[in-house]
Amino acid sequence: MQPDRTEIDAVLARFQEAISALLASLDDRPVVFPDASDIAQGFDTQLPEDGIGSAQALDRLLRDGWRATAALSGPRCFHFVIGGATPAALGADLLATAFHQVPYTWITSPLGVQLELTALRWLREILELPAAWTGVMVTGATMSNFTCLATARQWWGERHGVDVADRGLHGLPPMPVLTSGYVHASALKALGMLGVGRAQVRRCARDAIGRVDLAMMRRELEALGGAPAVVIVNAGEVNAGDFDPAAEIIALARQFDCWVHVDGAFGMFARVSPRTRHLVAGTERADSVTVDGHKWLNVPYDVGYAFTRDHGLMARAFRYTADYLPSPDDPRPTLGAVCPESSRRARGLATWATLAAYGRSGVRAVVEHCLDLAAHCARRVDDAPNLVRLAEVPLHIVSFRYDPGVLDEAQLDRVNQTIGARLVEDGRVYAGTTRYGGRVAHRPAFSNWRTRPADVDLYVDLVRELGAAAVRELR
Ligand SMILES: *Cc1c(COP(=O)(O)O)cnc(C)c1O
Repeated sequence: MQPDRTEIDAVLARFQEAISALLASLDDRPVVFPDASDIAQGFDTQLPEDGIGSAQALDRLLRDGWRATAALSGPRCFHFVIGGATPAALGADLLATAFHQVPYTWITSPLGVQLELTALRWLREILELPAAWTGVMVTGATMSNFTCLATARQWWGERHGVDVADRGLHGLPPMPVLTSGYVHASALKALGMLGVGRAQVRRCARDAIGRVDLAMMRRELEALGGAPAVVIVNAGEVNAGDFDPAAEIIALARQFDCWVHVDGAFGMFARVSPRTRHLVAGTERADSVTVDGHKWLNVPYDVGYAFTRDHGLMARAFRYTADYLPSPDDPRPTLGAVCPESSRRARGLATWATLAAYGRSGVRAVVEHCLDLAAHCARRVDDAPNLVRLAEVPLHIVSFRYDPGVLDEAQLDRVNQTIGARLVEDGRVYAGTTRYGGRVAHRPAFSNWRTRPADVDLYVDLVRELGAAAVRELR
């Protein structure tokens, strides 16, 4: 079998009908079908010598493949922090594939480069970051943290008189990184990849929840004796949607020689609603900010945004030149020279399309819809005799546990762990557990424009039902 021009129409015709039907089923299908794992493993066959043809291969995906997916864009996925896909973003993302663009540099895709830059400017305006800041699109908040922390490392090296991208870390002291206990695992992963080391991170936390200890952070900064350091502010942590006090941390950091990075993967969207914008006050005075696209903005996977006030540092951290590549003096933008990737997907199309289609008010509407869902969930939890909320709900995550009032701590942990595991097995609703202040807790996150209050009700009812069963088994 070889690819053939005449297949394209057949492939697209088949698609349109099939995809419409599959996506229409999202509201009612389970997040996972009970036989999903078996079906997925059924794809692990021998490499075909001659191939089954595009029609058959795609039919296989549409028929069996769909049944092995997790419906992350459906209305009942509250696990991790997972967004849906707006119709405009979905369509534009399909076009990014159809148009086959590589926004590495202007000449490989004028459209891709322009839409990326314009969408980033629009986002910067929506998030109220300073006009002088620039950004770049990467695969998600992990790579955005990597990009921003690489820029921070470049700054830090230059403070020591060393171009780290050129010379490496050899001969330099360890790079101090200070943050609260809210630091996200992906920031640690990024520091590992950057050669800084996860163990360099000093968590200035005053309790088991991870809340920042500002006095301790001040002592740590003073102990550096004027040496430059990197501070990470966590704007939205994953267990309860809480925030570091950005304005206070930044005011402290500015008394020392610090680069301040804000991880606001989902939390930066608190900025768009008057109900929550106080939570991210001060983040505009940072040096770099991480924002995710595929979470609360409801753009399809994968996209994240790295913003910084110092474009020159980012360009020095990621410079990319060769005789056959665009000259660094070319006034037209080369995005592949300011971020980790060179060839890269045209992520600008989907972000541009969702902002063009729904505007600033549309972003705010989705955010406030999710705030309402979280408030609804919190009320349901508060009203249930056997559910106990563990934290305030500043944003769109609700932290709680099943607690019938007769179990000890170890039993409570066991019961809630069981509920979490059974919920995922059940598949009608997806949500996970965490440890909040050491205790096993449920932490549904509401980030999808499609979710309805009835989906939240089903979730709460299921937790109670599975909880009652898990307690009966204890006896
Ligand atoms: C999700 C998340 C990340 C990692 O984002 P990915 O998009 O999964 O790479 C980083 N930081 C925070 C606060 C997050 O919520």
